[in-house]
Amino acid sequence: MTSDAILTTGYAQRLGESLPRVRDLIASAEEAASRPAGSVRLVAVTKSHPFGAVRAALDAGLTDLGENRLEELEAKVAEFGPDVARWHMIGHVQSRKAGQCAGLADVIHAVDTTKLAERLARLGEERGRDVRVLMQVNTSGEASKSGFDGEAAREEILRLADLEGLQIDGLMTMAPFVDDPVVLSSAFAGLREIHASLRTHSHRVGPELSMGMTNDLEIAIREGSTMVRIGTALFGARSR
Ligand SMILES: *Cc1c(COP(=O)(O)O)cnc(C)c1O
Repeated sequence: MTSDAILTTGYAQRLGESLPRVRDLIASAEEAASRPAGSVRLVAVTKSHPFGAVRAALDAGLTDLGENRLEELEAKVAEFGPDVARWHMIGHVQSRKAGQCAGLADVIHAVDTTKLAERLARLGEERGRDVRVLMQVNTSGEASKSGFDGEAAREEILRLADLEGLQIDGLMTMAPFVDDPVVLSSAFAGLREIHASLRTHSHRVGPELSMGMTNDLEIAIREGSTMVRIGTALFGARSR
């Protein structure tokens, strides 16, 4: 076997155990929150894992793949093709890379500045097809986190929602790096509240809430997540 095939086999074995476990966690959390089964989409985060992980994920029937670096997204889209899955760009994107990103990703999760949003909108207009995005909101108050901040977020996102060429599917946040469930719940609830308020003011803000990772997916689902971004629980620890 080639080394790529060996890697695929390893990842396939791992997913054989991890994927049912993650799907169970999601299903139980949906049920606990009295939400319909299947209301939360699983985005499998393959970042920093080799092609073998992507191949195993596709073989396992995963339909949504997440990457956080453009070079890596580009390499994987080139290897597997744009149509094998929905490709999610979940990492920070520099506004000068807007064009490259819009050409590769089906959904861009972390639109965190006005400049990036406006560039993506212009590209969407030029190509005659909206660029689909989630606006990242900083709900933790940590200065190290990117995203639109609290009150200002509301007005700015409402303005951006009116841009031609941009389709705002919803909002995204990164929880603070803590284990305290109270702190995590409050960050996710904060995003849900901003989202609800935006949607009462604009029908152009879509229904998605991208929140929840390996360590906090159950809390995120309880607070209304519609998309969890899961890497470690599916593919194991990353080397970088
Ligand atoms: C890496 C990453 C994830 C996945 O994190 P895990 O803890 O491995 O599940 C989710 N979202 C973003 C934005 C990431 O960069």
